[in-house]
Amino acid sequence: MKKLRLFFSLFLALSTVALWAVDKEQYTIIVSLDGFRWDYCDTYDTPFLNAMAAKGVKAVMMPSFPSKTFPNHYTLATGLVPDHHGIIANSFKDRATGKRYSLGNAETRSNPAYYGGDPIWLTAKRQGVTTATVYWVGSDVAIKGDHAHYWHDYQKKPLLTDVERADEVLRLLQMPESERPHFIMCYFEEPDHTGHVAGPITRACRREVEHLDSLLAYMWNRISLLPEAEKINLIVTGDHGMAWTDAERTVPVKPYIKEEWVDAIEGDLPANIYVKQPQFADSIVAALANVDHIRVWRKADIPAYLQYGSNPNVGDVLVLPDMGWLFTDRKVRRGGSHGFDHTAADMHVGFRAMGPAFKVGYEKPDKFANVCIYPLLCHLLGVTPSPCDGSLDSVADMLISGN
Ligand code: AMP
Ligand code: ZN
Ligand code: ZN
Repeated sequence: MKKLRLFFSLFLALSTVALWAVDKEQYTIIVSLDGFRWDYCDTYDTPFLNAMAAKGVKAVMMPSFPSKTFPNHYTLATGLVPDHHGIIANSFKDRATGKRYSLGNAETRSNPAYYGGDPIWLTAKRQGVTTATVYWVGSDVAIKGDHAHYWHDYQKKPLLTDVERADEVLRLLQMPESERPHFIMCYFEEPDHTGHVAGPITRACRREVEHLDSLLAYMWNRISLLPEAEKINLIVTGDHGMAWTDAERTVPVKPYIKEEWVDAIEGDLPANIYVKQPQFADSIVAALANVDHIRVWRKADIPAYLQYGSNPNVGDVLVLPDMGWLFTDRKVRRGGSHGFDHTAADMHVGFRAMGPAFKVGYEKPDKFANVCIYPLLCHLLGVTPSPCDGSLDSVADMLISGN
């Protein structure tokens, strides 16, 4: 009986390996459209992204908390939630040095010390895959003293235009075989920018999303002509969604929080508050406890589902506005924003994938967490992932057996 069981387990293990054997000849391109809300393709006219769904996989992806650009792009790269990789917000206080990390501050933004985990371009490069990045968050920082084989510096202006980025992907794929990357990550700032300025469901946002769709079609049409076209997997996704915000939906800060309590307030959605003395955390929580349209927690009391608060640089108090609200004294114009509870639908992200590894015409029935992208990419590239918060199991249903 024991022998039979052993034989059976061995058979199961071997067949699983065979089932998931990866073709190292394949290529993978992942494109991030910043602020690519999950329902944009249902709302706007996106023939290319619809064709991707028909030829491949369509899904909805849940970002990690907070639903901001830097935390989530680096989560896509590492498979770790922001609390674990260290980029806990677009701006935060570094308690060890007193410095302020911010995406707009070249010095702190470029400091590898903030970027924990093992970004995919390093995981893959270490294991023999030639890699390239076109402006992905963190990819121009010398994390562990290294970069992808080919990378672009976001500090170097002017930045490549969107057409130039698409052309760059094509150029990389046309390099001589011995130098050619098998993995490319490419970032676009839109439709986030337009979503902020105009709002998510507007004529301006329509124009932008439809422009991006045709840009992707332009890129893919040219890729299709390459001899390797059949071996190329293309993933299009993003970092977070977008929700309406306006002047009527703000909760002011000053009437509730005394200046002498706080050392710094970072962000308005959510706000990380750093106090001057520990007891002031209680004062702030008490002052905000009964204020409508926000939720407030001491760092230790942040609900577990947000997976936030174990990182030393999270504020002593976290204020999270309800959907559509902001915690700010600023004058706000009608438009869009993100950073809300990542489980809310407006924060969710579109996902499309097609190529030899993916099923055809498959609509994933359940949402998946963006921490699963890293193990998915590792699988597609045939490399062993570093420990992370995601799992391949959650996204394996998208894959063709044998890929
Ligand atoms: P958010 O405030 O979360 O909407 O951030 C979006 C902004 O992040 C965009 O306007 C980009 O300009 C900026 N951004 C994206 N990638 C990078 C990068 N690698 N370095 C610096 N800024 C970036
Ligand atoms: Zn973003
Ligand atoms: Zn944004």
